[in-house]
Parts: sequence; C-alpha cells; structure tokens
Amino acid sequence: MADITGFLKIKRKEAGNRPLHQRICDFSEVEQVLNSEDRMLQASRCMDCGIPYCHWSCPVDNLIPEWNDLLQQGNWRKAFERLNATNNFPEVTGRICPASCEHACVLNIIEEPVTIRENEVAITERAFAEGYIKPVPPVKRTGKKVAVIGSGPAGMAAADLLNKAGHMVTLFEKDEKAGGLLRFGIPDFKLSKSVIDRRLDIMLGEGLILKTGVRIGNDISIKDIIEQNDAVCIAVGAGHPRDLAIEGREFIGIHFAMDFLAAQNRVNAGIISASDNQIVAEGKKVLVIGGGDTGSDCVGTSIRQKPVSVTQIEILPKPPLSRTPDNPWPYFSKTLKTSTSQEEGCERLWNISTLRFVSDGKITRGAEVEEVNWEYTDGKFVMKPVPGTRRVIEADLILLALGFVHPVLDEFISESGVELDPRKNIKVNRNQATSIHKVFAAGDTVSGASLVVNAIASGRKTAVEIDKFLRLP
Ligand SMILES: Cc1cc2nc3c(=O)[nH]c(=O)nc-3n(C[C@H](O)[C@H](O)[C@H](O)COP(=O)(O)OP(=O)(O)OC[C@H]3O[C@@H](n4cnc5c(N)ncnc54)[C@H](O)[C@@H]3O)c2cc1C
Ligand code: SF4
Repeated sequence: MADITGFLKIKRKEAGNRPLHQRICDFSEVEQVLNSEDRMLQASRCMDCGIPYCHWSCPVDNLIPEWNDLLQQGNWRKAFERLNATNNFPEVTGRICPASCEHACVLNIIEEPVTIRENEVAITERAFAEGYIKPVPPVKRTGKKVAVIGSGPAGMAAADLLNKAGHMVTLFEKDEKAGGLLRFGIPDFKLSKSVIDRRLDIMLGEGLILKTGVRIGNDISIKDIIEQNDAVCIAVGAGHPRDLAIEGREFIGIHFAMDFLAAQNRVNAGIISASDNQIVAEGKKVLVIGGGDTGSDCVGTSIRQKPVSVTQIEILPKPPLSRTPDNPWPYFSKTLKTSTSQEEGCERLWNISTLRFVSDGKITRGAEVEEVNWEYTDGKFVMKPVPGTRRVIEADLILLALGFVHPVLDEFISESGVELDPRKNIKVNRNQATSIHKVFAAGDTVSGASLVVNAIASGRKTAVEIDKFLRLP
C-alpha cells in the first residue's frame, strides 16, 4: 500500500533540464535526474488508486501503482522487476514517452500528476548501475528459427521476447546500427545512443543474432528469409514521408526532416564526418514546416548547428492552454506543449498554409505562405484562406516535417506479396499474422507512424503470437 497521504504532503518536483545556454552547445541529453531521496518522495505521491487510470492508459500495461509503491519504500530492485515485467525498454520510454499515464493520473484532476515517466527511468538507471540488468540466456533452446526484419523498438521488443522464449532469433537491419528511429531519427539530446547500445549488449549476451547493413529484399530476398525460418516478423516502420508537392519543391535547400536528423545522428555517432554532412543549418535561416514532434526535433538540431534563425510553422490552429470540454480527463490532453527544443529559441506560427517555394534561381530563398482559418461546416473543419495575408518567410534551409504516410513500399514489400490495408500499411489479423503463412508484423509498419511505447507494445504482442504459432503441435 502506498503512502496514502503522500500527495497531500509532497508537491510534484521534476528533475528539470540542463541550462539552456549550456545544452545548445552539445548533443548530450537535455533532461537531468533527481537524487534518490527526492525520487522516492515523488513516488510517495502515488495514491494507489482503486482504478489506476495511469495503468489503463499505458500501452504496455505498466503496473504503475505497484512500482511506485515499491519505489517509495526504497525497494528499487523489486520496483524494477515489476516494471520489467511489462516493458522491455523502460530506459527508453522513461526518457522519451509522452507519458499518457501522467495525463490520465487521477491526481491530475485536482493537482499535478505523479512523475511517472521520471520514476520509470530512475528505477531502470538504478538497476543498470547496481548491475542487476544482465544477460540471462534462455535455459533451453526450442530449435525454432525466427527472423525479425527491422530493429526499431517494435523489432527489438519482439526479438527480445522470442529469444528469451528460447527460439533462435536473427534481427536484420538495413542501417549501419540497430535501433531504428531511436538511433537515426530521435536526436541524441533526447535519447543518448549509449542507452540503445547498452541494451543491445544485453540482448546479444542472451544469444540474439544481429545482422546490420542487411537490407531484406535487396541483400537477401524475402522468399529466402521465409524459407529459412520457422516464422518471420516484419517490423520495418513507416518511413515514407509525407511530401509537399507545391511549386518550387525541386529547389536546392528543401529536405525531408528525417534526412536532416539522420545526418546529424550519423555525425554524432562518427559514421560520417561533419564535413560530409550536406544538410546543415549553420549560418542559415531555417524554416521547419510541421508543428509536431519531428518538427520540434528539427528545431533543436538546427539550434545546435548555429543557424541565423529558426521558424516553425503549422497549418492547424494553436492548441488551447487548458483542456476543452471535448477533451476531458483521463484522455491525453490536446493542449499547447512547448518542447525543450522550442524553448531554445524558435518562432512558432500556427494557421499557416504553405503555397509555394521561392528562389532566386535553383536555390531556395523561402516559402510563400498564407494565414488560414478553420471553420466547422457540415460536421467537419474546412480550411479557409485569410485574404491579404500572403507573405514570404525567408529561408535558405527548409525542412519538411509533415509526418509519414506508410511503410516504404520498396522491392521487399512488393516482392513478398504481403497484403496491405487501405492506408498501405501491412495488414494483420487479430493474431498479428499477415496474409502470408508464418509471416507476422509489428509496430509502425502495421499501425502507421506512432510512438515508441506503441511499437514496443505491438512487438510484444506479436512475439506472443509467434511463440504460440511455433508451439502449435
Ligand atoms: C524524428 C522522430 C522523433 C520521434 N520522437 C519520438 C518520441 O520522442 N517519443 C516517441 O514515443 N516516439 C517518437 N517517434 C516515433 C517513434 O520513433 C516510432 O513510432 C517508432 O520508432 C516506431 O518503431 P518501429 O520499430 O515500428 O519502426 P522504426 O523505428 O522505424 O524501425 C524500423 C526499422 O526497420 C528497418 N528496415 C526498414 N526496411 C528494412 C529492410 N528492407 N531490411 C532491413 N531493415 C529494414 C529500418 O532501417 C528501421 O531501423 C519519433 C519519430 C521520429 C521520426
Ligand atoms: S493514477 Fe496516479 S495516483 Fe493513481 S495509481 Fe496511477 S500514478 Fe498513482
């Protein structure tokens, strides 16, 4: 039982971030950590609710009140065991999850929520520091072989559980290193890549086989993969970016967000040199089109490259400061959020539509934009231009952060003949099985672009279904 009056005595206290002037000079993680005593006090704010809405809203079903209680007692090891029972990579979600659990926390109705996400990462970091996260290879192997294609959080979670279940798992990755968007999408200042390496070392120590730099469909055919394995899990993400097919799209200086972010992540990892990075914000006026998280990551990365200015535009209206009647607790609050990157110095504009890119020749010089209003007509919102508001936002680097539409439909997907859903994601049934016998799928490639925690949840679910399939008589 938690400290039932903890929330009356203790106020929410966050670890906070490194000072702005310091953090924009490097790519190290922005968020700091609380000392153990404060962390236990924060856990004591948990009310151990009869109906824990935190748990209800968590895609991996984290047993939040249970590990908060263990944490407030100082039983860090048991707290980690409860946490690890439902989440393969709490060191990742504890860093970068938008924490729907905190939005749903019952305390949120009248007070500030429990620091669930920070508690999660603190428990896990303590477990690593004290050495009780170590490789535990399966006692017995089943003799079954599984190929997991794609090493993002979905593929990693599926591979981890299947390996632990005793199957011989090979994780294939087309990039130089494993991790998917954790590695090459999400900037280091949100998630240090040493966190992924540390986890991969544990998984390799448990007997997982990792093959990087192998693109299925190109280096090995999907037909061969299916033939050589007892089951296959496709977890290739949803990497096809949404484009902006307007006049001037071909000008030099207009790039997809992922090309920009991946290049900087490769520089940080020493895979390419800074001088080989072709997409840099240094000395430039940067325009980020898209107001979401990927756009925000472009802002933070640009700022660290020392630009002249950064502007981020969004076509949708500015979100409200507090919940609206149609967005009540315990749902994720659709209110205005300011990321640490946006705090670091960018101009944010809403209700802005991009009409065309402008240039003096071949190189972009900016984008012509127009203000819009959203009017509710016939049951839907319709965008209406505001007359007389056209203007050019000057920019010599324009980053398109408009989201992703579906998996990259390259040779591998078409060669496999796997059935797609109407949005061109890979179609699965309730058992995560695709239209091809013994081929399953997980993560963004099934759901469309989503969140790390959803990818982990999907990878776990798929692993359970593959395990059941492999154990069929
Ligand atoms: C810039 C950015 C920032 C984000 N920030 C956050 C955040 O802060 N918090 C959050 O929760 N979510 C965030 N997300 C979303 C999150 O990263 C994704 O939802 C999640 O990574 C999806 O996991 P996945 O395993 O399904 O796919 P991915 O992570 O996309 O991994 C798929 C992997 O498959 C590999 N692959 C593809 N084709 C092949 C092939 N033919 N052969 C071999 N390998 C192949 C790819 O190289 C990749 O490594 C962010 C996304 C982006 C783009
Ligand atoms: S909803 Fe909040 S207070 Fe209630 S059990 Fe979950 S974390 Fe604790």
